[in-house]
Amino acid sequence: MPQMMRHRGFQIALCVLLLLYIFCNQRGLSAYSQSSSQNSHATPLPSSKTQTGPGLAVHDSDSHLQAYMPRVSPAMLRYSHIKYAVYFLQSGFEILAAYLFLQFGLAKALRAKAEGRTSNLFGQLLIFVPIFYVYIFLATLPLRFYSGFWLEHSMHLSEQPFWGWFEERLKFLVLNIATELPLWFLLFFSLKRLPKAWPYLIFGVSLPLIVLAVFAAPIVFDPVFNDFTLMTKSPVRDHINALAAKAGLPEASIYICNHSKQSKKINAYVTGIGASARIVLWDTTLQKLPEDEVLAIVAHELGHNVLGHINCGCVITALFSLCMLPFNIYCTPALVRRLPKVWQIRDLTDIALIPVVVLASFIVSFLGDPIINGYSRRIEHEADAYGLQLTGNGPAMARLFVALSEQNLSEPDPSKFIEFWYFSHPTLKERIKFALAKN
Ligand SMILES: [Zn+2]
Repeated sequence: MPQMMRHRGFQIALCVLLLLYIFCNQRGLSAYSQSSSQNSHATPLPSSKTQTGPGLAVHDSDSHLQAYMPRVSPAMLRYSHIKYAVYFLQSGFEILAAYLFLQFGLAKALRAKAEGRTSNLFGQLLIFVPIFYVYIFLATLPLRFYSGFWLEHSMHLSEQPFWGWFEERLKFLVLNIATELPLWFLLFFSLKRLPKAWPYLIFGVSLPLIVLAVFAAPIVFDPVFNDFTLMTKSPVRDHINALAAKAGLPEASIYICNHSKQSKKINAYVTGIGASARIVLWDTTLQKLPEDEVLAIVAHELGHNVLGHINCGCVITALFSLCMLPFNIYCTPALVRRLPKVWQIRDLTDIALIPVVVLASFIVSFLGDPIINGYSRRIEHEADAYGLQLTGNGPAMARLFVALSEQNLSEPDPSKFIEFWYFSHPTLKERIKFALAKN
């Protein structure tokens, strides 16, 4: 019984520690862009799983629908199924890597090394955080290489040289460390200096930090990886302008991203907030799609803007942060005391707590994906409905979804389990049905 109780306490501790970690969540910088791609995990935090699903007026047997269904090739199925497997494996690897770091005493050893070098908190974190992040990076690198480089090349979806790909992974790592190091400092500084007030401080800074991260993403972080240029004047641009004006957004910024250097896939997304808000089209999308399909994808992205999906994400995160407050006040200190003895976490102010918080974030993030994706599928459907209303061109939208499936090798009709856990968008089969049912 005592063992069971301890195990249960540990599980609760992991959940609550996630709440501490949320404001420096590694997904934070990318969590506020809404793409049109099927397997994007760029989704805001969840509110509820109330997937309404597309209209079902058209049945599978309908020849009209069949004429629009993507060609499902063995390569598409193989690629999609490998991607599903990699997602689950990657999640498991991350959890295992963080757990082993604690279980093998590496956290306490690294803490001792950091504390031996300096008594200054920031100096200690400057040693601890980069080494731990590099450890996680190296532990998960083989699978990332397989999925992000080898598989993409073997499926002829990318021609990016290895060193270009690897350089981007290093940039991600450096950016992660650079942006999260100050947040860890803020957390531990407040834990040490404000033993009673730290939960309020964390809650107070969470919303401004979220808004700042969303604002900065397209103008500070995205340009590290790609070039973004305003769409130049052309007939397509004129028609996009007209569409944006019809949506009530005549000043909408439309950027082109040179994503062709990384991938042959097609996509578009909306990102930023306030003055940094913009719609981004991958250059591949413009190269491969006819104009009416480009307009369909832009209309979907305009839908995200008009319906305020980015702002909703910020509000939901702030509400989540509010829910953290009583947990952090009443539960977290006691739960930290119940962590496994072998980890040798002294108290809440111990920097060896960082791997525990990261481990908790990995676990809860993985278990929370069905909820996050359920919410995401709902707002993606809303954007589809808005886009369809805006263009009034269902067949063009249906052809766009066929292209997204065929060009990106995205399975149009996955299993219900995969859709529930992994898909951030409604399945392409459902989206095609919806587009055709309205016409
Ligand atoms: Zn979208």
